[in-house]
Amino acid sequence: MEENNLVCPVCGSSNVFDGKLSSTGGFVFIPEEEKGKFLQRSSFMTASACRDCGAVFGLRLTDHPNKLTK
Ligand SMILES: [Zn+2]
Repeated sequence: MEENNLVCPVCGSSNVFDGKLSSTGGFVFIPEEEKGKFLQRSSFMTASACRDCGAVFGLRLTDHPNKLTK
């Protein structure tokens, strides 16, 4: 994982690390506008978490911007 300068929005700690939101099949973010379409565009997500208080924040689309915004 690359270095970042994120700060926890809950406790202000900079002891923060990145991770991927995942379940067996993988969590995906599907825009509301894609609902009901035969081929839904979606994206996996990453997030940051705080080692000090456990807050999870900073959700980001891993496929942004190529997949969803074109
Ligand atoms: Zn924190």
